Amino acid sequence: MTTFADLQLIDPLRRALDEQGYKTPTEIQSKAIPHLLAGGDLLGTSQTGTGKTASFALPILQHIAELGRAPKKGEVRALVLAPTRELAVQIRKAFAQYGRFTKASSTAIYGGVGYGPQISTLRRGIDVLVATPGRLVDLINAGKCDLTGTQFLVLDEADRMLDMGFRKDLEFIVSKLPAQRQTLLFSATMPGTIAKLAKQVLSNPKRVSVEPVQVTARNISERVMFVSKENKNSLLFKLLDNSEIERAIVFTKTKHAAERLAKKLGKQKVRAVAIHGNKSQNARQRSLVKFGKGSVRVLVATDVAARGIDVDDVTHVINYQLSNEAESYVHRIGRTARAGKSGTAITLCESEERGLLTAIEKLLGRKLTVDTDNPYHDDVLANQHRQNHGAGAKRPDRRRRRNAGPAAFQPRRPRRRSRRSQGAPVASR
Ligand code: AMP
Repeated sequence: MTTFADLQLIDPLRRALDEQGYKTPTEIQSKAIPHLLAGGDLLGTSQTGTGKTASFALPILQHIAELGRAPKKGEVRALVLAPTRELAVQIRKAFAQYGRFTKASSTAIYGGVGYGPQISTLRRGIDVLVATPGRLVDLINAGKCDLTGTQFLVLDEADRMLDMGFRKDLEFIVSKLPAQRQTLLFSATMPGTIAKLAKQVLSNPKRVSVEPVQVTARNISERVMFVSKENKNSLLFKLLDNSEIERAIVFTKTKHAAERLAKKLGKQKVRAVAIHGNKSQNARQRSLVKFGKGSVRVLVATDVAARGIDVDDVTHVINYQLSNEAESYVHRIGRTARAGKSGTAITLCESEERGLLTAIEKLLGRKLTVDTDNPYHDDVLANQHRQNHGAGAKRPDRRRRRNAGPAAFQPRRPRRRSRRSQGAPVASR
């Protein structure tokens, strides 16, 4: 087994890892770090929850430490692009933690807050800039951000950035960096659009893949509850009556649903707060702090808002509504059982969502355990699902899947293969 010492990380970084309580590198860290320390480009297929952030933060911090000087005025040494503000804040926090015994400086910039402090920081020069694409483009256009000296570029959750419509922004930003640089691209999925982007920005990259199945194989107990639409709220309230649910993230499909559900929970005397893209950055941060401290028990979140949330001790993830993208399931449940803890993921499935559940089970290559032990269990629905799941399984709504963005392409491959092999077990990715 590889150790951090084997990876040739410098002492100040190893001390920080020690303090974080990390004993051994994760799979992606073992695979990526040596190559990145040697200066190569990297194309990583990996989800959050696999230790991906440290796999790029550590080599970058080491390269910067080896430069042995502070950044010049206006210089940005390393640029990390992330889809959401929360993820940007989270990545920046990781750089600060891992780099605490080095002199590296870092900052996160994103929209929804004032420009002034961001401009001052950039003027002084910074080692690591973590940014969301939109705000960075604004700052470049205003002549406030110069990337001509940037030697390291990371595109994190690239699939999500493309889903969110950032392609043009990414191309614009990359065109502002020197051609001589080290570039890393991470994506949870590898549809054609990402392969194309990778070709544009990477040079002879090493490919590192950590399967999403690994995320779900962590210590997460997963189960699905079949329930009628009318009983869904009652079932959720009933679940939340259980004091074992100390800290839960409840996922909805839309901002509107998140807001509505948080209000309903409030009426049931459940301490809940909604986070989604319509809330100001400050409101979102405040909610996250309250959730992290435990003064709020339930965070009702949309998929995008939940990206990058790294709150320890989330005991439960509840899928109140399923997403159109099967991969979101893996991202969602990865919010629990972090840092070696265990957790529970409960999926509430109503009739309309059966197709989405089928897509998830095909992606995972296994069926979720059905929980019948609750007063709202819908046996008819459970039976329909079981019957349709075998040969001639009902395919999820194709039209919806086509509109669901690049990530939706991933589960198609196994489905085609299984039809050709006439009912052979469905392959997982
Ligand atoms: P990430 O995939 O970067 O979001 O990391 C997921 C979680 O794993 C974070 O809470 C990290 O602090 C933690 N982590 C990362 N690397 C290690 C490691 N080598 N050992 C233990 N925990 C780790």
